Amino acid sequence: MKRWLVVFTASLLALTGRAICAQTVPAAVQTVKGPDERFKADILVVVAHPDDEGGVTPYLARAIYDEHKRVAVVFGTRGGSGGNDYSREHGPALADIREQEARAACAKLGITNVWFLSGKDTASQNVLNSLANWGHGANLEELVRIVRLTRPEVIISWLPGIFIGENHGDHQAAGVLATEAFDLAGDPTAFPAQVAGATKRLEVWLENLTPWQPKKLYFFSDADDQKQFAGTGPAYSVKEISPSQKKPYWRLALDAATPHLTQFPAEIHQLAAMSDEQLNKFMDDPQHSWWSEPMTLTLGKAAAASSPRAAIFPDSESAQKDADKTMVQMGGHFAVLDSGTLRLAGPWGYYANFRKAHKLENLPTPVEGPEIGVKAGSVVQIPFSLAHDPARAAEFALNVTAPAGWRVLNGAGRIKLPKEENTALQVEVQTPDAPANKLEQVLVSVEQDGKVLGTIRLLVMAKASGLPQ
Ligand SMILES: [Zn+2]
Repeated sequence: MKRWLVVFTASLLALTGRAICAQTVPAAVQTVKGPDERFKADILVVVAHPDDEGGVTPYLARAIYDEHKRVAVVFGTRGGSGGNDYSREHGPALADIREQEARAACAKLGITNVWFLSGKDTASQNVLNSLANWGHGANLEELVRIVRLTRPEVIISWLPGIFIGENHGDHQAAGVLATEAFDLAGDPTAFPAQVAGATKRLEVWLENLTPWQPKKLYFFSDADDQKQFAGTGPAYSVKEISPSQKKPYWRLALDAATPHLTQFPAEIHQLAAMSDEQLNKFMDDPQHSWWSEPMTLTLGKAAAASSPRAAIFPDSESAQKDADKTMVQMGGHFAVLDSGTLRLAGPWGYYANFRKAHKLENLPTPVEGPEIGVKAGSVVQIPFSLAHDPARAAEFALNVTAPAGWRVLNGAGRIKLPKEENTALQVEVQTPDAPANKLEQVLVSVEQDGKVLGTIRLLVMAKASGLPQ
């Protein structure tokens, strides 16, 4: 604006100011803007990697096409450290490709509200590695923002727990962030600048969102054994024919997975070449099934009383699932064989605290007790903590019992601990090179003055392949 115009406008305002003030009561009702309805979701899916959404797309197809639910998806990473089996790009270039693959995959189901957090792919089974590498705080803040923007009725995420299977730390991290966001988004004191009303001054900082409490939180898992989750939540057939699309839900999910060419090009090309009849036959073979039938979504928690197996949307689902009024007994427990002073620590210890803090104690745990699957020939670390008398630097004996053919590398023997209440310790065991494919136990016990204080047990499956622990 030219300088003379500024001066002229200011003078005019000064002259007419009185007249404007006299008209403070407007004739018409002024409409206050509401939230942006284009982003309102019924279901917010929170996953780790581009293509993870495929774990739940048979249910999403049902919700979108036949229950008319709005779905939004958040990915924790852009997949830059994944493999590329299709073309030559890697690293950040692959991340650029996989973001587009994920957007295209979601768009196949009509999902266009898709966000990416700034997590980095972390190839380990330890959720704590992923949370550290992702930037836990900044990503939680962003996810809470997206929950407040999308105002979902339901959040669906990866199960935060340790189960033999892919057991990807990034998947677990998505479940941890989803749980924390579920608990925080309705709290006006959490990230308060997000819910501060817009002001004329400094309006670029205050976001004018509203606190939002989603109603229910559901999980799905990458565990090998899906049967262990039966009864922990509603189950949906993936083979049922969609009334509106006249195709089975698995087929709609399969079509939605085809943009992920960098991840499984051979399968996509193989399936694309099949006739409908061949496809049906292929998917009927339990060897090939990409999804378990039925697919169970484990209820993590609900803001209001809800039975675990009740339908996700009881009002809009035509067939009520076998909802019961009683809470299902879902849990094993964190197996501390002798209660007392010895505790499994690391990610196991974290989850014991996490589930308590977020009232997720009904979530399933492995039936036999804490477990992990590792690549045969790799080293298993067993983290644990020992509470002891802080007044004296005491001596203990650590005994490790491992299966025949396994080698205890570190941690066994006599130890002297510093004067503190709790000391973090670790035992390392070398697994044999040949995969056993069965659960075998490692016991760690602590003795003081000839008396056993406690024993912890970890079940280990040495497999042909697996992520690093
Ligand atoms: Zn993944």
